[in-house]
Amino acid sequence: MSSWQDIDDQVPGGIYLCQVNENVSCGACCGLYNLADSSRETLNRILARRTMLFKTVPRDADAIEAFGRQMEAEVNGNQPFPEFHHCPYLGLVGAEQSRVGCLLHPLADGNNGADFRGLSFYGGLACQAYFCPSCSRSPKLLKDLIRRAATDWYHYGLIITEVDLLCALYDRLRSDGAAGGPALNGGEKCLEAGRNLLELKITWPFQKNPVTDRVNYFFKDNLYAKPAVHYADAAVSGSRHEEIFKNLVTTFDTADQLQQAETMIDNLIDEIAFSTI
Ligand code: SF4
Ligand code: SF4
Repeated sequence: MSSWQDIDDQVPGGIYLCQVNENVSCGACCGLYNLADSSRETLNRILARRTMLFKTVPRDADAIEAFGRQMEAEVNGNQPFPEFHHCPYLGLVGAEQSRVGCLLHPLADGNNGADFRGLSFYGGLACQAYFCPSCSRSPKLLKDLIRRAATDWYHYGLIITEVDLLCALYDRLRSDGAAGGPALNGGEKCLEAGRNLLELKITWPFQKNPVTDRVNYFFKDNLYAKPAVHYADAAVSGSRHEEIFKNLVTTFDTADQLQQAETMIDNLIDEIAFSTI
C-alpha cells in the first residue's frame, strides 16, 4: 500500500487507478476493449505484436504516425462503439511487458524520456490529464478492494471503470442491511470478495453478446448508454438489483434466471460486507 499512498494523495478520488503494479493497469479510456473481439487472448496478441513492432520504429513524428496508421488499419472494423477511438499506441509496458500501457509515454521502452503522446488522436494534454469518472465517483471502498485484489490488467480494466455498476453495488451494500463497514479488513476473505467482483463481468451468464457487452463507454456525452434490462418473458420484470443488472447488460429469458442472478448479487454483497470493518 505504501507505494500507492503518495500518488493517491494527488489524484481525484484519492485512489490511484491507472498503473497499479507490474501486472495490473488500465487502458480503458484509450479504447482498449473497443474491438470486434475484445477477448483476453486477442487483446494480448494485438498488444504484444504492436509492442514488438514499435521497438524498431524510429522515434520521429512521420515514422510514429505511419506505425499508428498501420496498427489502426489492422484492427478497424466492426467495433462495438464506432465513435469510441481505440488508440493504436496501446501496447504492453513494464520490465516484463506484463501490463497494458502507452507506447508513446516518456517512460516506455525506447523513448528515452521523450513524450510522443502529442502525436495521438486525443493529443498530449488530454492523454496526460484525463481521469475517467470512476476515479472521482466510484466508492473508495470498492476501488480499494478491486485494486488490492487485482492480479491481471485484463480483468482489472473491465471492472474498475464501471462507475455506475460500482455505485449501484455500493448503494445495495448500504441499503440491504448487509451493513458493510467503512474500511476493508484486508484478510483472505476480503481478497476473495475482490476477486469475485473482478470476475463479475467476465462470468456474468446473462449477457447475450459477452465480448461486446463487456465494453463500457463512460464518457460524459453518454453516446452509448447501457440498455435497460431485457425481460424476454413478459410475466417477469423488475428487481431490487435492477441498476446492477442494467450495468452488466443483462437479458433474462426466464424467472429462474432472474432469481439466480439476484442470489449471485446477494452473495457478492454479503462477501463484500464481511470484508469490511
Ligand atoms: S479509464 Fe480511468 S482508470 Fe483506466 S486508465 Fe483511464 S483514467 Fe485510468
Ligand atoms: S497516446 Fe494517449 S490515447 Fe493512446 S495509449 Fe497513449 S495515453 Fe492512451
